[in-house]
Amino acid sequence: MKNLHNALLLKQLLILKQLGYRYTDITPSELKDESWEVPNDIVGLQEAVDGCHLCELSKSRTKSVFGEGSLNADIMFIGSKPSATEDSTGRVFVGRAGNMLTAMIENVLHLSRDEVYITNLLKCKPLESRVSISAEIVTCKPYLQKQIEIVKPKLIITLGSTAYKYLTNDESSLEKVRGSIIQKDYYAILPTYHPNYLLRNPSAKKDALSDLIKGKELIEKLTLL
Ligand code: SF4
Repeated sequence: MKNLHNALLLKQLLILKQLGYRYTDITPSELKDESWEVPNDIVGLQEAVDGCHLCELSKSRTKSVFGEGSLNADIMFIGSKPSATEDSTGRVFVGRAGNMLTAMIENVLHLSRDEVYITNLLKCKPLESRVSISAEIVTCKPYLQKQIEIVKPKLIITLGSTAYKYLTNDESSLEKVRGSIIQKDYYAILPTYHPNYLLRNPSAKKDALSDLIKGKELIEKLTLL
């Protein structure tokens, strides 16, 4: 109960802040991992997500979208939220954006989808009408943090500005930071464009390609250490 209470309290504080209250300095990316506890194993974690009702997205989801891939992956991809196709199938990055991500993994990294780990910040799809999903991301974040802890990737490639912002606490524009490598405790973060953006802006594909090549080179160097 204490853990649930803490999670709901943090969510409430964020909503109040969004309404204009300025009595707290808490921001989404500053919230600590230990705000509430989640299972330490991947099966238990997925079961917790499947049965999660910590935010109101549980009411509108068809299926939760946990993520998939190798638990020994060197590279983890993190997007922002499930699409309609992901919501209906329960699988992460399927559909047109998923096909593009798969092609990037196979053709640039020379890996299969099974050799990387793919997930989103949010495990349940928000309604299209939602203006902000900040509070839900904060509530959901411990699941992602535990996935990172379990997989222990060497490199996290964030897809789109939202994933980058919540992983780094950096509000810089994606155009400015994409392709740069930010070292964290035991992994590096490499921001690049979301496949949905690339579908809308094919001219940006060459930049995403260049970003992924940097990621590949980094992993190759780290493997030699
Ligand atoms: S989005 Fe995350 S916190 Fe909200 S109900 Fe789904 S799993 Fe739970």
